[in-house]
Order: sequence, then structure tokens, then C-alpha cells
Amino acid sequence: MNKEKIMKILRDTARVRTGGSQQELETAQYLQGVCKNMGLDAHLEAFEVDMATMHTASLHIDGKEVPCKGYFNCGSGEVEAPLCYLTSTDAYSLSQVKGKIVLIDGYMRHWMYQDLLEHGALAFISYDGNANFVDSDIDQRELRAQVHNGKKILGVSINAKDAIKIVKNDGQMAKIVVKQDEYKGNSHNVVAEIKGEIPQTIVFTAHYDSTSLSQGVYDNMSGSVGLVGIAEYFAKHQPRHTLKFVWCGSEERGLLGSKAYCAMHEEQLKDVVLCINLDMIGSIMGRFIACCTSEEALVHYVQYFAKEVGKGISANQDVYSSDSTPFADKGVPAISFARLAPGNTAPIHNRYDTLSVMKAEHMQEDIEFVLEFAKRMANSACCPVARKMPDNMKDKLDLYLCRKRGK
Ligand SMILES: [Zn+2]
Repeated sequence: MNKEKIMKILRDTARVRTGGSQQELETAQYLQGVCKNMGLDAHLEAFEVDMATMHTASLHIDGKEVPCKGYFNCGSGEVEAPLCYLTSTDAYSLSQVKGKIVLIDGYMRHWMYQDLLEHGALAFISYDGNANFVDSDIDQRELRAQVHNGKKILGVSINAKDAIKIVKNDGQMAKIVVKQDEYKGNSHNVVAEIKGEIPQTIVFTAHYDSTSLSQGVYDNMSGSVGLVGIAEYFAKHQPRHTLKFVWCGSEERGLLGSKAYCAMHEEQLKDVVLCINLDMIGSIMGRFIACCTSEEALVHYVQYFAKEVGKGISANQDVYSSDSTPFADKGVPAISFARLAPGNTAPIHNRYDTLSVMKAEHMQEDIEFVLEFAKRMANSACCPVARKMPDNMKDKLDLYLCRKRGK
């Protein structure tokens, strides 16, 4: 894939495009157009997502207003209560949250929420951003359906600088007001197929949505462009295996696009022998990795293969927090490729994920490598990866998908 085309797509799409938004839909249509220009017929597959319009969100600590954003889909109402900063989830700490508004480190995760509910917390405050950055951005968070399970308490998100101030000044009383309309909307996957000689199918995935503050160039229009590069090759060179390309929507909202794809195509998944996922490639800094949610043999294969073609890689067997996971959970072996930059050189999910962290030559190199790997798999007599999820990966999937709680 040539550098000009790579950089043009990255430039054209560099804007916030959260799952279910108009901007996400426009990006889906843009990718559809890119496919059309390659002679590939792509269609959009809609799936339902929770949406919200925020009318009011406020936080007061001891009567003083703190800038905040309300969590989407956490309900509406008003709570005033003593503040509690929860630094860990041991039994003693959790015994302190009853009847309080709880400040937590980081964003609201599944088990933290269950702990707060169980121990009688009334509402919560989470924070992100970086105290040393010049901005005071506040991320738009949401209470995911799989986290609240119908039991909602109010939540707001604040910037790390304000969280520090609250704790430094020993904030005592907190008041949260949230008023929002919650409704159902649509997010979309962009799907294209290249028919092979056999029905056995390899699915390529990459998410094209972003988080609320991010232009999502590195995370993950980079991987989406990678899929374009791979599709471009196979559109001209018919593969032995059938190939599906899925540009996933709403990955940042909990892998919603790939989950929806797996649910909508459950019957066809029987023919899917491998999922190849790209999430964050082509950055200036960072190391190239392959994460295999599969039998361990694929780790060794990809290590050998990288040596054969000349590419530095670190490969391991694990679950990757991306669109490969819903496929793996359905028993489809999956491999995710990424060039992972240290957070201080290419931070993601904030305003710093822009074209400036990318290097066209690295994009080309990464796409070229994944394409070579894809050619081997796509043109194999039979896909060499066992169509079976080993027990250690099933355990990791249970943990990642919060069906089981880790220690
Ligand atoms: Zn991503």
C-alpha cells in the first residue's frame, strides 16, 4: 500500500467518532467508499447501542463546583452524601463506602461497580487525564449495560487535577446532579467479502471508532487502514480461503461491533477458521507484537515466520483487549497485531492521539508483514491453526469477559 494513500485516509478520518454517533456513521460510509474504489462491495451492518443526551451534570464538593461530565446511561437524579476516596477494594476499605459518594481511581470497571453496589455506595466519581498535561479534558464515560445490569447509581467523571485537589483539601460532602435522556441508537460494522475457492473463512477485524476526546488516528484508524491494505491485495489476487473484512464500530464501548457481528453471524462462524485483528500499528515509537488467543503453536509459528521474512516481533499467548476476543470466545482462534508505543510517546484515548504520533514507513512495514502472514494463511491448503480454544485461554476469556473474578 503506498504511503500517500495511507496518510490520506488517516488525515481524512482524523476526528472524534464515538460509537453510535453521526461521525462514526460518516466514517463507516467513508470506508465503504474506500472499498468501492478498490472494486470491493462493502455494506453496513447496523446494531443497536445505548445512547444518551446529557442535559445537566454537576458535582459540588463542600459547596464548591468541580467541572465534570455525567456518565451516560447511569440514570438521572440528585444525591448528596459524605465523600469517600476508595483506594483499594479490601474488606476494610469497602466497609467505609455505605451511604457515601465514592471517588475511585481510574474509570468504573465491572467488579468495582459490583463492589460499590454490594456495599451500599450511593454514587461515584471517577477521573482520568494526566495531572501533568496542560489540558484539563474530561472524558465522556458511560455506565455499560453489562456493568450495571439494570441497577444504576449516578456517576460523574472529572479530570485528574481536580481529583488531586479534592483529596488534598480533604473534601467532606459531595453533591451530584445528573439529568439525561437515555435511548437506543445504531452503530455500524462495515463488512466486505472476497470469495475464495473454499468456504473456510478468515475474518479480518479492526475498529474504526474512537473515544470521546480522541481523533483515534493511532487507535485505531491505523489498523483500519491496515485492513484496507490487505483487502486491496486480495481484491486483485483471489485467495484460496474466503476472506471477510469487518471494520468494527463501538469497540471502545466494550467490543460492541465484534460482539454484534458474532451474534448476527453465529451460523457462519462454523466456517471461520481464524480471526486476524489489527489494533494500533504504524506509530513512530514502540514494539511490534502478536497476541495469540489460540493454541500455543501459533505463537511459535509467528515467531519463526517473523524471522523468516525479517521483522522484529514479540509474540505471546493471551487474550487481547480488542475485537479478536468475541471471535475467540466463540472458539475461533485469533491473532492480534499491534505496534505498542510507550504511553509517554503515543498516549491513547485523549487529544494526543493524532497524526503526529504516526510514521508512514512504519505503517507500510506493519501492513506488509501482516499481509505476508495473511497470504500464508489465506492460501494454505488447510488453515494450520487448530480450530479449538485451549483451556488456559478459555480461563482467560472468562476473566476478561467478567464471567469469573480474578484474585
Ligand atoms: Zn483500539
